Amino acid sequence: MAGVSVRATDGSDGSDGSGGSGGEDVRRFWERLGLPGLVDVHTHFMPERVLHKVWDYFDALGPLTGGVEWPITYRAEESERLAVIREFGVRAFTAMLYPHKAGMAQWLNSWAVDFARRTPDCLHTATLFPEPGVEGYVREALEQGARVFKAHVQVGAYDPSDRLLDSTWGLLAEAGVPVVIHCGSGPAPGKHTGPEPVARVLARHPRLRLIVAHMGMPEYEDFLALAERYGEVRLDTTMAFTDFSERFAPFPREARTRLVALGDRVLLGTDFPNIPYPYVHQLHALERLGLGDDWLRAVCYENGARLFAISP
Ligand SMILES: [Zn+2]
Repeated sequence: MAGVSVRATDGSDGSDGSGGSGGEDVRRFWERLGLPGLVDVHTHFMPERVLHKVWDYFDALGPLTGGVEWPITYRAEESERLAVIREFGVRAFTAMLYPHKAGMAQWLNSWAVDFARRTPDCLHTATLFPEPGVEGYVREALEQGARVFKAHVQVGAYDPSDRLLDSTWGLLAEAGVPVVIHCGSGPAPGKHTGPEPVARVLARHPRLRLIVAHMGMPEYEDFLALAERYGEVRLDTTMAFTDFSERFAPFPREARTRLVALGDRVLLGTDFPNIPYPYVHQLHALERLGLGDDWLRAVCYENGARLFAISP
């Protein structure tokens, strides 16, 4: 145990029956499926100063929370958070970081180079912003070994189809490097959230490997349609299907069969550590969809392992 205790959000003990960080419950989940662990494509590691700002924001019920109470379950030092995610058996994870304004992405990317070097189980992550020079620093990040990018349309308040990003999307499509993009209007809408701007990007770059964060919450069906249309579009499960999200953005029951058809392009994501419930709840939320163990194995490990060439 890494000494991080779980804070309950709903008056329960918050850990599905066990104390501590819930590591045993998480391991039991993937062991039962016969998996070597989990691949989590959506976890947040960033410079401590920035992460603390994010936490302050959640504490203050900033606009991104949609005014919903959002206690951070895994609020701890970086080394402790790493210990917890390893204790969960997450074999590969990301360092989703993102700028809220111009002039910040390069600094975040240089931090991420260092983080990736000292954290071999983290997939080297980089970010971008529509600004002059973006193609240059994205190229540099690729040369430095970035394996995944994060784009946050809501926090960055930019249009992903902005012409300033056009050649950069082309570069990423050519490189086949995935981009996790927060582009849905949940938990809170932004000026450029929703499916239309992303549809414009994909019309220009149909091979771009976008991973739609949060299953596109709450515009689930529009983003499923984009994934059905474009074979390189994937979705991450981050916070979707949980009790927390189902309260304000329920996943439509009738759309579940579409998740089966897209079963090789749905990827486990969680938002660790910034989640208002224990990590295992995300896994149980996937399990209770009732789509079967093969689907769970694909989503929780195999699809991510294949995409990022992770060997067991
Ligand atoms: Zn996130």
